[in-house]
Amino acid sequence: MEYVGATPFFADNCGVFGLCSIDNCIKDLFYGIFNLQHRGQKYCGISTSDNMDIKLMTHEGFVKHKFMLDDLRRLEGTLGIGHVSLKDRQPIMLESKLGKFAIAFSGKIINSTELIGKLKDKGHSFSTGNDVEILAKLIGENREIVEGIVKMSEQVRGSYSLVILNEGSLYAVRDPYAFKPLILGKNERGWAVSSESCAFDFIGMRLFRDLEPGEIVRIDKDGFSSVKKLPSKRKAHCAFEWGYFARYDSIIDGISVRNARNRLGGKLAEGDNIVADKVSPIPMSGIGYALGYHMQSGITYDDVYLYNRYSDRSYTPLEQAVRDRIANEKLSVIVEAVKGQRIILCDDSIVRGTQIKNKVKELIDVGAKAVNVRIGCPPLVAPCRYGISTRSYNELIAKKHSVNEIKDKINANTLKYNTLEDFVDAIGVPQNNLCLACWTGEYPL
Ligand code: SF4
Repeated sequence: MEYVGATPFFADNCGVFGLCSIDNCIKDLFYGIFNLQHRGQKYCGISTSDNMDIKLMTHEGFVKHKFMLDDLRRLEGTLGIGHVSLKDRQPIMLESKLGKFAIAFSGKIINSTELIGKLKDKGHSFSTGNDVEILAKLIGENREIVEGIVKMSEQVRGSYSLVILNEGSLYAVRDPYAFKPLILGKNERGWAVSSESCAFDFIGMRLFRDLEPGEIVRIDKDGFSSVKKLPSKRKAHCAFEWGYFARYDSIIDGISVRNARNRLGGKLAEGDNIVADKVSPIPMSGIGYALGYHMQSGITYDDVYLYNRYSDRSYTPLEQAVRDRIANEKLSVIVEAVKGQRIILCDDSIVRGTQIKNKVKELIDVGAKAVNVRIGCPPLVAPCRYGISTRSYNELIAKKHSVNEIKDKINANTLKYNTLEDFVDAIGVPQNNLCLACWTGEYPL
C-alpha cells in the first residue's frame, strides 16, 4: 500500500472489541484495543460497566499513549467495550427508552442522510450526526435491545459490526452481509468479541468462532448465547481484509491472513519468468506477498528496506505532502542489499502510483540493476462504500491507465498484478461470498 501504517486510501477504518469477565477486565480491554491499533490511530475509547453504572472515556491519539493508569483505574469493571478509529470518537453513550447504553461500531451507513431526516422528523436532535449516533438513536427508540437491533437493521443500509454495552450485558451484531469481521473469543474467565482474532492471543483468549451474517449475540456473566439471526441475502466479506487491512496474524472467517497473503505471493510467482537476484517487500504491507513469492519461486528473500520504528507515528495527516514525507521517513533503503541487484519488489496495492514510483527510483538511484514490481491485489478501480472511505475515483491510477502504462509511469522494469481470479482463489473464500467492489466496481448493496 502506498502509505505505511495509517493509510490515507482507507480513511475510515476502525476496530471494535468487547469483553465480559468474572473479574476486572480493564487490562484485557486495554490490550484488546491496543492490538487493534492498526485499524485506526486517530481516536481510541473504552466504556465499562460494573453493574452499577456505565463509564466512558475516549481520547485522541494512540491507545498506549493516551490511556494512563489513572484512567484504567477509573474504568474498572467486569464488562466493557472498546474502539479504535481513524474517523470519530467511540464508544458513545445514550440515555434512551432502553435505559443507558454505550455503543461502538465498525462500518458505514449508506443511507445516513435519509435516516437523520427521519429521526429529526420524530424529534431527535444530533450532536455529531456520525453513523454511530444514528445507530444509537435507531436502537434506543425501542424498549428492548434485541428488538431495537432488529428495527435498526430494517432501516439501515450499509455495513456494521457493532458492540453494545448496558449495565449487565454486552451485545454484538454483524450486519447481514458480514462485510466487516466480528469474531468471538473465550478463555476460562470469560468471553470476548473483536474485529480481529489477533486481539485474543495477547490476552490469553482463543478464537471461538466468527459471528454469522446477521447474527446477534449476547455475552454476560452466564456466558455467551446467540440470540437472533437477521435475514441475510448473501455474504459479502470485504476481501481487502485479507489483502491489506487485517493484521498478518489474524484469522478471519476461518482463513489465516498470513496464509492468504503467502498464497497471493505464490500466485504472483507462478509463470513469472523473471530473472532476479532477490525478492523483497515494501514493509510492512508487502511482507506476506514477498514471502509467498519466495516460497513459490525459490528466489532468495532479502530486505531492501529498513522500517524505522521511531519515525513519526501520528495519525493520518490531511495534506498529501506530509503523508508522503512520513511514508518516506519510515523506510530507509539498505544500500548494500540493493547495489547491482535485480529485485522483485512486492506490495499489496497501488493507489495513485506516487509512492511506488518513489520506491523504484530510490532503489535505482543506489544502484539496483532492475526493479520488477509485483502487486498482490488486482488493480484498484473503485472506491469503497462500506466503511472505508476511499479517496476518489480520480486518484486511482488503474482507473485511467493500463498495467503497461502504470509500469512506464512508475519506471519499473516490469509490473504484474494478481488477476481477480487468482486473488479470489488464493484467499480461499467462494467469489460470491466476497465483496470485490474495489476491483470490479460491482457493489453488493
Ligand atoms: S468496496 Fe473494497 S474495501 Fe470496501 S468492503 Fe468492498 S472490498 Fe472491502
